[in-house]
Amino acid sequence: MIVTHLHLDHWDDVAKDVLPKNIKIFIQNDEDAKEVKNAGFQNVEVLQEDTSFDDVRLIKTKGEHGRGEIQKIAGEVCGVVFNHPEEKTLYVAGDTVWYEAVQKVIEIHKPEIIVVNGGDNQFLEGGSLVMGKDDIYEVYKAAPNAKIISVHMEAVNHWTLSREELKNFINEKGISSHVFVPVDGESYSF
Ligand SMILES: [Zn+2]
Repeated sequence: MIVTHLHLDHWDDVAKDVLPKNIKIFIQNDEDAKEVKNAGFQNVEVLQEDTSFDDVRLIKTKGEHGRGEIQKIAGEVCGVVFNHPEEKTLYVAGDTVWYEAVQKVIEIHKPEIIVVNGGDNQFLEGGSLVMGKDDIYEVYKAAPNAKIISVHMEAVNHWTLSREELKNFINEKGISSHVFVPVDGESYSF
């Protein structure tokens, strides 16, 4: 299991209750590791640039949970690149807006599948905390051959971009064979 940060929409009481306490958990830093260990989990490892899980290489990536001042409130987050010699490279960006570090990950790792957290969630002030449609369009432009999956849609609260609005945008831009907006529980194989 990978916990990119400890906000309630990523790590909640139900997760703490139902997950086996010995499950392997990868986490972004020592501070978060401490909290997860305090909840009783024993097998917690802080992600690095070069972590491995069986044959899969996990590369921790940066994220910005908003732009400017709001980051102080939103806190630190991470994403992960999954690498395996026989599989397509997968980049799970996590709770981040589009910015240069995301572009760099795309340039360096050339992921064939990119999962972004859409939904354009916002507090009352301070702007986007995760990607909105324009951010997702930037991801597409940076990785025009990748399959981009927008998750974190219509989840928990304070989202401002619906699946329908994003799908309309994708259709307008003519990129519906590149950007996917799954319903809850939907899965894809590439
Ligand atoms: Zn979130």
